[in-house]
Amino acid sequence: MSSFSRRGFIARTITAAFGLAVGKSVYAKECPASAPEGVRALDPESAVGKRLEYIESIPGDFTHAKFEKGQNCENCQFYQLPRAKDGYGPCTMAAMAFVNKCGWCNLYRVRPS
Ligand code: SF4
Repeated sequence: MSSFSRRGFIARTITAAFGLAVGKSVYAKECPASAPEGVRALDPESAVGKRLEYIESIPGDFTHAKFEKGQNCENCQFYQLPRAKDGYGPCTMAAMAFVNKCGWCNLYRVRPS
């Protein structure tokens, strides 16, 4: 391999690695459209979902007496982060049904740092 093509190879490799890292971080901020296969997701229309007033995704114009901007399931203390899978995690207050990390409900409590 000539030094020219070696330089090109290294540049392409670094670019690809950077692209993957950026792509991964952007993806991590996205909200999942649906629960992963094999998990029991909380249905907003179920009795528990209705009692919690659970929403799977917080609209930009969402208002609720208890809601404050920045709150979501992922930063709620009841979201079991270590067991989360593909943006869904079990919620203690929903009998361990999986909730969307971008969701919210009226039992939200900020996770202590
Ligand atoms: S208790 Fe927390 S994690 Fe569970 S549904 Fe409500 S906001 Fe989401």
